Amino acid sequence: MTLRLAVAEIPETHLLELQDQLPPDETPRLMKLAVEPHSELVFNIVFKRQGKAVNTQGRVQVQLYIPCDRCLDSVAHEVDETFHLLLLPEEQLNHLGPETILSTQDLDTRYYDKGWLELGELLEEQTMLALPLKVLCSATCQGLCGNCGVNLNHAECRCSEPDFLDSPFAALQKLNNDD
Ligand SMILES: [Zn+2]
Ligand SMILES: [Zn+2]
Repeated sequence: MTLRLAVAEIPETHLLELQDQLPPDETPRLMKLAVEPHSELVFNIVFKRQGKAVNTQGRVQVQLYIPCDRCLDSVAHEVDETFHLLLLPEEQLNHLGPETILSTQDLDTRYYDKGWLELGELLEEQTMLALPLKVLCSATCQGLCGNCGVNLNHAECRCSEPDFLDSPFAALQKLNNDD
């Protein structure tokens, strides 16, 4: 069950405002990208329709847990983003007149299919656009050992030890220890 709205339900005479929350199971793409269950996605959208063109202004808020780029630990990330989109019917994609191009050049444009606005997908997309390209649990994150995969923030890795034992210095150290 995803959130959708029929374009015909938006009155042309006045603004339509929607405010609601989506539970995590209605935002499956966010669920896939997160490492822990996320909060409800809180949104409000104001729709203004003129013929088949729908102007939308909205805000999306959700707390996501995404993996750290280096160590894969979960990092809490708060999304609070406003957006402004022009939604046009898909059939206009193929023959944009000069007047449409003029009116859309300042706005992000999306295309809807068969008279329905897929609001769940739109809100997921806006959330994903708001995520940083690189997320780190901390600026000093040590990451994972490339050899054994241990999280070097939580544990010490012993990968370098066998190399040390095989080296000539290890033999020297052994002599010293025997003294
Ligand atoms: Zn990390
Ligand atoms: Zn290691």
